[in-house]
Amino acid sequence: MKRVFVCRLGILLKALNMFRGEIFAYPLFLQKELHAATNAHFYCTDIACRYWPYLEKVAISMPELGSLLQMSPFLSVMHAKAHSTKCEIVWSGRPLDGAGTTAGEEVEMMNSYLSRCALTTKYMTKSAGNDMPTVHAIGWNLWKQISLHLSLSSRYIKTVRRTEMANKKLEDLCSELGCPENRVLEWVRDVRLWATDDSIHTSCSSQHALQHSIERFLVCIRKKQVCIITLTATRFIICGERN
Ligand SMILES: [Zn+2]
Repeated sequence: MKRVFVCRLGILLKALNMFRGEIFAYPLFLQKELHAATNAHFYCTDIACRYWPYLEKVAISMPELGSLLQMSPFLSVMHAKAHSTKCEIVWSGRPLDGAGTTAGEEVEMMNSYLSRCALTTKYMTKSAGNDMPTVHAIGWNLWKQISLHLSLSSRYIKTVRRTEMANKKLEDLCSELGCPENRVLEWVRDVRLWATDDSIHTSCSSQHALQHSIERFLVCIRKKQVCIITLTATRFIICGERN
């Protein structure tokens, strides 16, 4: 098993062989190595909500790792759907300036590509089996670099379109609800406050705690419902284009 780090463009930066299964020390080591080499600003992973408290705890006993906390962590978009609604809101990368429309799933493309090696490496000796993924990783990076101008321009066009669509959607929503845009921003702040505030449940009576719990589940169900409708609509559009 391998843990890999890729940049936003999908280029493999570092990888290691895992000998003890999934433990936080592996991403911590890679983060430390990369932070020293690249001074990256964002840290996106599918377990940001669990990894970051671990890093904060480790940084107390090992102050030399404190600089890693300057990075901005966020959850990858699709993996976040499997987390709780509050977690998704708190750890989402969407409101972070500079994170843009990063999906954070680039590492899955790399994993999918490298997983093909498993078909052949399982019949090889250990040394050859270890070298094969490295050769493929070099090939992957070369291919990414050669096609960089195409992927960057395509991403730029997509991002501009998405920004226009999001602005239009916000304008339509504001006019439909008859409220100014700053009111929407207030609602966004309220939702983030609701997501970060856990004190309500511990300080309230059992009846209030139950009420808040029901509200939380209701928000979660509504959100999943919207997500399913949006995904289904997108699928229909794709099917329509193909036909
Ligand atoms: Zn989570």
